[in-house]
Amino acid sequence: MQTKSEQLSLFARDPACTRCKLHKTAQFVCLLGQGPKPCNIMVVGEAPGKREDDSGKAFVGKAGAVLEELLDLIGLTRDDVFISNAVHCRPPDNRTPSKGEIKACRHWLNVEIERVKPKYVLLLGNVPLFSITDKTGITRARGQPFEKDGIIFFPTYHPAATLYDERLVKTLREDIKRFGDIVEFGGVPYEKKVKVNLVDTWQKFDQLIDSLRGEVSWDSETTGLYPWADDAKVISVGFGTADGEFGIPFHHPKSMWTPIDLERMVTRLDKVIRLRQKTGELTLVTQNGKFDHLWMRVHYGVKWYPDFDTLLAHHLIDENDLHDLEHLAQLYFG
Ligand code: URA
Repeated sequence: MQTKSEQLSLFARDPACTRCKLHKTAQFVCLLGQGPKPCNIMVVGEAPGKREDDSGKAFVGKAGAVLEELLDLIGLTRDDVFISNAVHCRPPDNRTPSKGEIKACRHWLNVEIERVKPKYVLLLGNVPLFSITDKTGITRARGQPFEKDGIIFFPTYHPAATLYDERLVKTLREDIKRFGDIVEFGGVPYEKKVKVNLVDTWQKFDQLIDSLRGEVSWDSETTGLYPWADDAKVISVGFGTADGEFGIPFHHPKSMWTPIDLERMVTRLDKVIRLRQKTGELTLVTQNGKFDHLWMRVHYGVKWYPDFDTLLAHHLIDENDLHDLEHLAQLYFG
């Protein structure tokens, strides 16, 4: 008896296809994918292997078992997704398909995409990445979703790669979870254009004071690491708010503020920050805030305690990982 996904499969394949020479050696020529049609999610692998060639079904061998485990991580089974390959005939000895073969078989992948109408497509490895983008380099491209013709493509490693290199397991699992988040979120969050307001007048300073509500991040730039050094100075202080970003030049060479102005500003900021933190109107967020806290304390005598620190939070999630902002941005936002 056919399974649900088998019943839903097989459309318009051409067992007499001669677009490339793989038809000469493959047992099952033009092995198209299986799964519901239409289907929001499509998974595209490399090419059929021996087990697939024998059975006429994509991803039924060892790599298929890994794929099923990965799908399980995001609450899916193979019946929930449409599974296919970039190349639809088995290459001899399971060698990697050539660029010419991938290009020749694009026709069939396009036919499938057209019929399945996926919103999200998981690309497993360099072969499907090349088929869609004409580029390889999965190590750089993995984990970075991109949109093409209204479809979100998400490249990651091929599950078979984990059978040869166990170190890839963690990365592949994290990528799949990110793909699951994108599907659940309904797309890729886009980054708002950063609008930096240079605080160069008292009026702009008043706007900043007004915007210090809700979640507010802050950061300082300093002349060095050691706040007690003879020439140590705070160069600038920045705040990220729902209304935009505000930057105050402190001892920046182009600063328009005198040391007395800066003292006045810090005193006012201190009052507002501490009061609003107390009433719950303001949550102060930092990255390694103990550093900025120390500098402001040493130079201006204020204590701006963070309510949430991204470095510490990530340390709790995984103490063995890196915690710098660049890494965290890459990890969580791609
Ligand atoms: N590897 C693939 O890329 N596709 C299959 O169908 C099986 C193994």
